[in-house]
Amino acid sequence: DSEEEINDKKLKIVVMGDGASGKTSLCTRYSQEQFNKQYGQTVGLDFYLKRIVLPGNINVTLQVWDIGGQTLGGKMLDNYIYGSQGVLLVYDITNYSSFENLEDWYAAIRKVCKDVRSPHIALVGNKIDLEHMRTVKQDKHQRFAQEHGMSSHFVSAKSGDSVNLCFQKLAAEILGVK
Ligand code: GDP
Repeated sequence: DSEEEINDKKLKIVVMGDGASGKTSLCTRYSQEQFNKQYGQTVGLDFYLKRIVLPGNINVTLQVWDIGGQTLGGKMLDNYIYGSQGVLLVYDITNYSSFENLEDWYAAIRKVCKDVRSPHIALVGNKIDLEHMRTVKQDKHQRFAQEHGMSSHFVSAKSGDSVNLCFQKLAAEILGVK
C-alpha cells in the first residue's frame, strides 16, 4: 500500500576499485540470499537489487552496481558513479598498488560529483583472510579514511567476514540511521 511505498527507500551503491581487488566476489557474497541480477536498461549496465531492513524497521532497496572490468578512465565509469548515494571503495590488503590507486578512484568520484552532493564513501580493505600476506599497514588505511571522511572496514569476500556489515553501515550512514 502507499504507506509501504513511502517507506521503501532506494539507494544506488557503487562498488569501485582496482581489478582483482574482489569487487565481484563481494557482490556475490552479499548476494547469497534474495539477490537478483537485474539488467540496467537505461544505460545498459548491470546492477543487483537487495532489500534490507535498517534499525527502526526502515525498508531499503539497495541497487548495487559492480563496476566489473571498468578501469580508471574507462568510458562507462562516469555512468556508474553518477547519481550514486554510496560508494564502497575496495582494495586488496595484500596488493599495495590497489591501495595507492584509491587516490585516483577517489578523484574520479570527485570529478563526477563536483556539482552535486558527494556520495558517502566507505573504505573497504578486502581479503583479511590473507592477513599474513598484508602489505598495507592498518594505520595507512585508517589515515586515508580519516583524511577523506570515509568510514572504514576490513572484510573478506572469501569467508564472508564483515561483508553484510559494510553494506548495512553504508546504507545507514546515507539515511542518517543510527
Ligand atoms: P574484481 O576484479 O575486483 O571484481 O575481483 P574478483 O571478485 O574477480 O576477485 C579477484 C580474485 O581475488 C579472485 O581470484 C577471487 O577469488 C579473489 N578474492 C576475492 N575476494 C577475496 C578474499 O576475500 N580473499 C581471498 N583470499 N581471495 C579473494
